[in-house]
Amino acid sequence: MKWSPRVKPTKIRRLYRAARLGLHDDDLLQTVGWELYGRCADIAAVADVYRDGLVPCPQCSTKIKRQIDPLFHASDGGTHENWFHCPHCTQRLLWRDCRESLRESPRCLDCYALLDGVEELRCSCGKEWNRKAYRRSVRTRVRLPCPHCGLMVRKPTDEATGQRVRHRRPQPEIECPKCQAAAFHVRGNIECSACGYKRRWRDYRKSLKKRDERLECANCGQKFRWQVWRKSARSLRTGNPKPAREFVERWPKCRTPKARMIQIDRLLQALHGRGALAPLFIVGDARNIREMLDEFASQV
Ligand SMILES: [Zn+2]
Ligand SMILES: [Zn+2]
Ligand SMILES: [Zn+2]
Ligand SMILES: [Zn+2]
Ligand SMILES: [Zn+2]
Repeated sequence: MKWSPRVKPTKIRRLYRAARLGLHDDDLLQTVGWELYGRCADIAAVADVYRDGLVPCPQCSTKIKRQIDPLFHASDGGTHENWFHCPHCTQRLLWRDCRESLRESPRCLDCYALLDGVEELRCSCGKEWNRKAYRRSVRTRVRLPCPHCGLMVRKPTDEATGQRVRHRRPQPEIECPKCQAAAFHVRGNIECSACGYKRRWRDYRKSLKKRDERLECANCGQKFRWQVWRKSARSLRTGNPKPAREFVERWPKCRTPKARMIQIDRLLQALHGRGALAPLFIVGDARNIREMLDEFASQV
């Protein structure tokens, strides 16, 4: 996957130096702006992948549905599920919705603010986790924020959900791992009637998770592995893609040098003070970039 590079701080400095003198160097504005745009577009695209389960083809950018996700979501076709209602906002929830939403956009388990960082997750309230510890915590906690309203909800116990809902979904297409015939999810097992293959569904799902997920683009035929894609996108992943999305939306609409400067400044301000977020956009470590952004902030 070819990603846009991060923007060099020297260019950004030149921009602000000119602005301080009341000059708008439009060539430079355009250069920096479009570089930021490329990077923002990539950050937003990566965030989309984790939200929608659609991966852009590395060759032609056609969106490809991930293989594993549909299996996970429909894994319980025909079984009981523990629906419950958020006591605060009354939305109907599954416990795994609470967990998954945190896996995709990590939030502080104390104050529910979005966390910054890739490996080290930080909250503006001062809490910190490394990613592993955070995941473990999300997995084991019995109180998590509701993905809709953010207030804490308690994991339902089996007895507590009197209103267990039985719902049948059409069975997803499952391929027998042995003979590739259509297999079925029956009574907690995956079973293939063609070759007699049978395995516990839970183990099957686990093995899928570990196994390479191979994706193929329907448009250009490109084949690639999800694991490789995910690794290549690692430095673009954030729980807070909002500043990037906004820039992508607004930058192309800027018609004057002044409007362009304002838009760039708005993005940088959104990154300012958000520690680990800025190095996703700009070359450098969090501290250097913060010092630069401090200067700009005092300039205005
Ligand atoms: Zn279901
Ligand atoms: Zn917090
Ligand atoms: Zn709620
Ligand atoms: Zn089979
Ligand atoms: Zn393609």
